[in-house]
Amino acid sequence: MSGYKNTGYEVVIGLEVHVELNTATKIFCNCSTAFGAAPNTHVCPVCTGMPGVLPVMNRMVLEKAVKAGLATNCTITQQCKFDRKNYFYPDLPKAYQTSQLYLPICRNGYVEIDTADGTKQVRIHQIHMEEDAGKLIHGDAATLIDYNRCGVPLLEIVSEPDMCSAEEVLAYLEKLKATMEYLNVSDCKMQEGSMRADVNLSVRRVGDTELGTRTETKNMNSFKAIARAIEYEIFRQIEVLEDGGTIRQETRRWDDNKGVGYAMRSKEDAHDYRYFPEPDLAPINISDETLEAIRGTIPELPDQKRARYVEEYKLSAYDAGQLTRSRHLAEIFEQTVRLCGQPKEAANFLLGDCMRLLNQDGKEPAELRLAPEKLAEIIKLVQAGSINKTTAKAVFEKVYAEDIDPVAYVKENGLEMMSDDGELDQLVADIIAANPKSVADYQSGKKAAIGFLVGQVMKATKGKADAGKVNAKLRELLG
Ligand SMILES: [Zn+2]
Repeated sequence: MSGYKNTGYEVVIGLEVHVELNTATKIFCNCSTAFGAAPNTHVCPVCTGMPGVLPVMNRMVLEKAVKAGLATNCTITQQCKFDRKNYFYPDLPKAYQTSQLYLPICRNGYVEIDTADGTKQVRIHQIHMEEDAGKLIHGDAATLIDYNRCGVPLLEIVSEPDMCSAEEVLAYLEKLKATMEYLNVSDCKMQEGSMRADVNLSVRRVGDTELGTRTETKNMNSFKAIARAIEYEIFRQIEVLEDGGTIRQETRRWDDNKGVGYAMRSKEDAHDYRYFPEPDLAPINISDETLEAIRGTIPELPDQKRARYVEEYKLSAYDAGQLTRSRHLAEIFEQTVRLCGQPKEAANFLLGDCMRLLNQDGKEPAELRLAPEKLAEIIKLVQAGSINKTTAKAVFEKVYAEDIDPVAYVKENGLEMMSDDGELDQLVADIIAANPKSVADYQSGKKAAIGFLVGQVMKATKGKADAGKVNAKLRELLG
């Protein structure tokens, strides 16, 4: 990544992120926002743009928009309103999108991201509320339209062009996603389209002060695809300029299967949409009391939680950052710690075995189904010396896959460590007798030979002995 750093060019990236709000109903009508319903079953005269209907603003949308703005350090526009963005395309039956141009709900915020060179602020130009459009399904013979998504509330979060690499873009998106999840504003599932990012990118020679011509790339449905699309576009633009060409201001589409981007159309400017104030909706006034009441509902956010984990649980900043990426994961962690009092062990399980299993299943931390009580029980079994770490990992896998009861499972399968010292002493003596060469090696100074003997004992006990105890016993007998 970032191989362009020696080309004499630098990269300037700004993002427009669309986040679908997780309200039960649409922004201007009572239709359900549930994902995956049969086409055109969540529609009504309002969201299909029938003549003579009037929109009514969903209060929850306003509340969630304000929360998102406060959590990203924005100024809230207490007197705001909607505008019409006019365009003719069949995904929008009204032929205009109700959006905000002149007085967006949130302005001038920022989020902090971690970069290789330390913490960096990515400024947020504005956040505005708008309605989503329907979905076109292109078939061989015809194009079909599903209006279920039409009128689903969206926030568009517009950053300043403050990012300069794919890594920074991903860090920014991760931070937005975590923040929205913490706020219960959106589930931000890229594969279901509830988080979408348009990448505005330009390059310029190092030292130039003027921005180069930018392109906008759309249609990426995973963080990985976004990173690939960015790398592609950086090199494409540098190549065009190196060949003496000019960059055209255009909207481009990313094809992740082929790994190429291509031009869709020349990019519109705002005036192409003939914006004007929405006459069917009254301006919104947010009183100071309402604003403070909403502020009071904002929970501990990822950055604060991470700092607390470092301070309170003595975790590394990295581990704390990984655990707090998802509110759900952080909650499982905290409950486990409350039950077993072992933050390091709980973090190790969740970031090690648990992440590995989630990755295998292609799942996100937010989708983890794991009872903290069960993880706490496994950790307690290890602490009490009832099972060793290898067994603990195996039991954890069972809990993850089948939600078994760890204590009962250990008992039923005879997984407890050998607690009978006499039995262990006998085994150690047997292994010494059976391996004269390793014993001689050890006694002639090859101290590593003891590892082999420990391994033999562990094998004989099917991993149920305490390796530390075995090691000590062997040293004692071999002198
Ligand atoms: Zn409707």
